[in-house]
Amino acid sequence: MIIAIDGPAGAGKSTVARRLGEALGLFFLDSGAMYRAVAAEVLRRGVDVGDGPAVARVAGELELAFDGEGRILIDGRAAEAEIRSREVDAVVSIVAAHAAVREALVPKQKLVAERRGGLVAEGRDMTTTVFPCADFRFYLDASPGERARRRARQKGTPEELEAIQRGIEERDRIDSTRSASPLKLVEGVVRVDTDGLDLEGVLARLLGIVGGGGGG
Ligand code: C5P
Repeated sequence: MIIAIDGPAGAGKSTVARRLGEALGLFFLDSGAMYRAVAAEVLRRGVDVGDGPAVARVAGELELAFDGEGRILIDGRAAEAEIRSREVDAVVSIVAAHAAVREALVPKQKLVAERRGGLVAEGRDMTTTVFPCADFRFYLDASPGERARRRARQKGTPEELEAIQRGIEERDRIDSTRSASPLKLVEGVVRVDTDGLDLEGVLARLLGIVGGGGGG
């Protein structure tokens, strides 16, 4: 079974997708981690983030895999802290907007689904480009203020709420206006507004639609 989830930054996609995968016995794919890994490596190598062909070369060269908990490994090494850094936050959307970078990563994402025999995949183009024929497709949404509050809590930096909200809004703007696979809600995808819902509430709603939750 393939379940595809898209939505803007900070809508809670990762946590929900991970829990949904656990409940249904499916692998969880954080596709954003792959774009973040490319961005981190581009920064590490001093490559110009605006240089599409050069960035795409990095994307093609990297060996991206996932550990037992679904955390990314870059060329075999754990990179969770590195890919969540502020520096990566600031450039990942520029990296992800290059069509050639997406052409390098999308086949890797499809391969994960094949090898794992299904999955819960979350990102920005899972419902539209990568798994348009998924068994279930969701768009998790929340207001920018709510998303910034969640991110600030997650990062343990409530005093930076405003800066976090600005960063999120800038990333949304780039992600939804780029020409290559922009983030958008398309027909047939179930939009779930998560404002005022906690994790368990969102999870219950999705499980109610997918029809699992009993360990199946
Ligand atoms: O999900 P996360 O916020 O970690 O994603 C980081 C960035 O990676 C997004 O802002 C977006 O630019 C890019 N991304 C993408 N397509 C995906 C997943 C993430 O372009 N499927």
